Amino acid sequence: MRGTHDRLFAVASQRNQNHWHLVRLVDGSRLVCDCPSHVICVHRAAAHLELARESAMRAANAANDARGERDAANDRRDADRWELIEAGNW
Ligand SMILES: [Zn+2]
Repeated sequence: MRGTHDRLFAVASQRNQNHWHLVRLVDGSRLVCDCPSHVICVHRAAAHLELARESAMRAANAANDARGERDAANDRRDADRWELIEAGNW
């Protein structure tokens, strides 16, 4: 995997708990599994779910950041207001 940005997911085989299937994320969107299944297999589905969970987490974190910036802006505005009040210019 050296030199590539492909991600690798190890998903336990359902038939044999000691066996793992490797699912590779290719080109940032395509999931390739090493099992012989030619249809969407549970391994790729599991990797897909993990990716969906990660992007949902990223979206939630981005929303939190936006809220934090709004709060900071409100704090700055309130601080300006208090300075005016204290200076008697309100
Ligand atoms: Zn598979």
